[in-house]
Amino acid sequence: MGNHPILKKIQGIAIPPHSKPDSFCWGLDNSDTFSTKSVTWIAYDKSINDSPDWNYKWIWKIDTMPKIKFFLWQLCHKAVPIRGMLLKRRLNIDAGCPICMGDIESIDHLLCECPIGKKVWELADKHHWFPIQFSPGGWQPLTEVLQRVRSYRKPQLLQKLSFLIWSIWKERNAVAFENKFFNPLKCLIKAKKVYAELRIRSCISDDSSLRGAPSSSSKPVHLIKWHPPPPGFVKINFDGSLLNSSAAGGYVLRD
Ligand SMILES: [Zn+2]
Repeated sequence: MGNHPILKKIQGIAIPPHSKPDSFCWGLDNSDTFSTKSVTWIAYDKSINDSPDWNYKWIWKIDTMPKIKFFLWQLCHKAVPIRGMLLKRRLNIDAGCPICMGDIESIDHLLCECPIGKKVWELADKHHWFPIQFSPGGWQPLTEVLQRVRSYRKPQLLQKLSFLIWSIWKERNAVAFENKFFNPLKCLIKAKKVYAELRIRSCISDDSSLRGAPSSSSKPVHLIKWHPPPPGFVKINFDGSLLNSSAAGGYVLRD
């Protein structure tokens, strides 16, 4: 450690002639405060002042469930723990596709190439589930598929696409972790169910009467309170009721 460059740097720091109180400081952030964000930026050779250019910000605006948006975000940033990716990160695993037992499993293989996975898209097309004829077969990588679909400016297509991708991922997990068979029809039905659930939920949130909250048409309640008359006056309060041929009345006189 005697000649270590860091030690030499520390020894090279000039000691101020006048003593100053110690204080915390962090040179990578303008606030002098440590933040993991500033460390991350330095790890990517960027300054904290650089405004990152996130290409997939639009994902957060898709009208879909938050967990699906998060999944799509991970997917576009190669952060989905799929076998091929785990192998690249040096995990000692079998990286083959658990569905077709063919190629190395990647997101593009799962969603665009896998012969069994492809059947989900064919079924969706056959059932006219998408508002336009749509199949990602031959389109790669998936991030480009998403970008292209976005350029169509058909929010419902992007929304349904997000449900189908999510459903394929869930079905893949059932194969990988529960030894289940990949069922393309079940996968499509699951996507349709989630889509229907979201539609119902958004209808309920728009209609307060369906939420069980008081509707806006119900009459407001006014409480009536007795007030004494001015000095020198007497107030008469009366009420009456009629039932068949019988009637009754009552009076209260108060000053
Ligand atoms: Zn496969």
